[in-house]
Amino acid sequence: MTRSQSEFEKPFVSGTLVGFFIPDIFGTIAVPHFHWHFISDEKDFGGHVLDFDLIHGKAEWRTMETFE
Ligand SMILES: [Zn+2]
Repeated sequence: MTRSQSEFEKPFVSGTLVGFFIPDIFGTIAVPHFHWHFISDEKDFGGHVLDFDLIHGKAEWRTMETFE
């Protein structure tokens, strides 16, 4: 999937980041370790995040007991 994905840059955009930590044991069915998804506040820009700098924000943390 990563060989064919398009990449875009958008500086200074506000939105929501959702990050996942996938343990190595699930590495064959999902991207292992941390990866991030983003959606802009205007809902016109988003996708997987390869890199970002956070200027300010609010963090929330949740442990998932199951993987479905
Ligand atoms: Zn993803």
